[in-house]
Amino acid sequence: MIRTTPPRPAAVEELFPKLGALRGVTTRLHPRPGCPDTAVSSIGGPLLWPADEPWPVCTESHRRGRGYRIADIRRGRRVLMEAWARDRPDDDERALLTELDRRHRAPDVADTDPIPLISLLQLYRRDVPGLAEGPDGCDLLQLLWCPFEAHGPTRHGLSLHVRWRRSDQVTQPRADAPQPSLVGFQGSVAEPCVLHPEQVVTYPYIGSLPSRLSKRIESWEAAQERMAEKHGLQDELVTYHHDLSIPQGCRVGGYPSWHTTDPHPMGCEACAAPMTLLLTVDSSEWDGAHGSWMPTEEWSVPGRLRDRCPTKLTVGRDGVLNLFACPVDAGHPHRWSLQ
Ligand SMILES: [Zn+2]
Ligand SMILES: [Zn+2]
Repeated sequence: MIRTTPPRPAAVEELFPKLGALRGVTTRLHPRPGCPDTAVSSIGGPLLWPADEPWPVCTESHRRGRGYRIADIRRGRRVLMEAWARDRPDDDERALLTELDRRHRAPDVADTDPIPLISLLQLYRRDVPGLAEGPDGCDLLQLLWCPFEAHGPTRHGLSLHVRWRRSDQVTQPRADAPQPSLVGFQGSVAEPCVLHPEQVVTYPYIGSLPSRLSKRIESWEAAQERMAEKHGLQDELVTYHHDLSIPQGCRVGGYPSWHTTDPHPMGCEACAAPMTLLLTVDSSEWDGAHGSWMPTEEWSVPGRLRDRCPTKLTVGRDGVLNLFACPVDAGHPHRWSLQ
């Protein structure tokens, strides 16, 4: 089933013709629960991984002996889904959910014991228009992470592992992936989702635009706001940031949003070239407020069954993870930013 982004609520290039020269394309992935196998692109699905290649692990020193069980997380989600499909959770289900929500201890696990990373996504270039070519003809991009937010100088950062590979070179794939016994946060475990890629038009983040243009957009937004207040239509307020520039949801290519840090240049650590956005992992597919990015196919779904977080991933504080690549050499190290 396809997913279709509705037309934008304002014709932004008619309002601001200078945006025409900055028009870009991004591919919304539209993840939805399914049963992906290793041969297809997915979020939270199994990765095509050679049986003789070690599975990546986290060895960075941090606590890893307290957390949630993956089986509990998945069961809790299933219970909730079935309850909402019927009506709402009953008392028995609520008690079960409280039990499944409990954190557990693994007292024997030391702070540097290697723990297997868990899969975030894999993307085949044949499935995802706009996915940049990997190094040395690689056609498959795989992203894994440590299921604890406990890395780097802040001790709260993410640890990502990016792997490009040539899918035709995987002749003996491994049957299943190792799993950590506990994860630090429930949003680290993605539900298996199949993808429904759709290319849409996009424009740069407002703070990345030439300042005269961004000022004109801001004064247009201020006028919109005054109008909305006057007529009591605040819920339908359209803004460049929320509705007209960068789509919400997981996507490939296009422009990064910098809404929590303000723009800062991402230079390649190997060659200093300005890096480009490879992909975005978003904690939700559209905004709850008025949801202009909600695909038209969801409009007929009853509100309580409409799921704007089909992957169940939580990136930072319900934010987005932007992964950048070097446009000069795809083999140069990736960088990322959390927004
Ligand atoms: Zn870790
Ligand atoms: Zn580079």
